[in-house]
Amino acid sequence: MPHLTPTTRAVFFDAVGTLLHPRPSAPTVYAAVAARYGLALSPADVRERFIAAYLREEAADVSANWLTSEVRERERWHTIVCETLVGASDPEACYRELFDHFARPQAWEPDADAHAVLSALAAHGLVLGMGSNYDARLWSVLAGFPQFDVLKPRVLVSSEVGVRKPGSGFFIELARAAGCAPAEVLFVGDDFENDYAGATAAGLNAVLLDPNDRYAHVPHRAKRLSALLNEPEA
Ligand SMILES: [Mg+2]
Repeated sequence: MPHLTPTTRAVFFDAVGTLLHPRPSAPTVYAAVAARYGLALSPADVRERFIAAYLREEAADVSANWLTSEVRERERWHTIVCETLVGASDPEACYRELFDHFARPQAWEPDADAHAVLSALAAHGLVLGMGSNYDARLWSVLAGFPQFDVLKPRVLVSSEVGVRKPGSGFFIELARAAGCAPAEVLFVGDDFENDYAGATAAGLNAVLLDPNDRYAHVPHRAKRLSALLNEPEA
């Protein structure tokens, strides 16, 4: 199959932005919660504040060698929410509401291509799995999506592994869970650093999901998941 080398035995997928999308979008949800706590922000304002807070947390994790835990993930989201919604009357309540919201399957939508792509790959006898930097809430979200049952024996959550993407330790553990050598695993995700660069640095193959053509320099890209089943574009 295209995008898969003759030696590919396993395909692992990122979760958020790859197989699952927040619906409504995260900035829309944050803005609605903020409004209930006296803070008027447009989704665009939220997005700008969120990205700044998110990048500060990424920088903190770089200096921790990508080590993580469930405690660290909760601390991350607490900081991101409080910094994004600064000015709200009760930041703690905002954090709790948002944390609980994104733990529910109703907050998420599966990617439109996911079912067909997973079925086709499974039919080719490939080992399938998921490798996510989301925290333990991924389990309660996945409980609402039986179409992802094929992945469930091999779902790796970084807060449980102890090291997060793009750390090589995460991807080595993923290959071990697949029973494969790293080079026999293809990793598919939408984040250049965490997914593509991390996987390739650990010796896996990778495809970057790049729907808006933002990464022309990346050799292995797909505009949507179904493109994994087509010949790669030159
Ligand atoms: Mg992602």
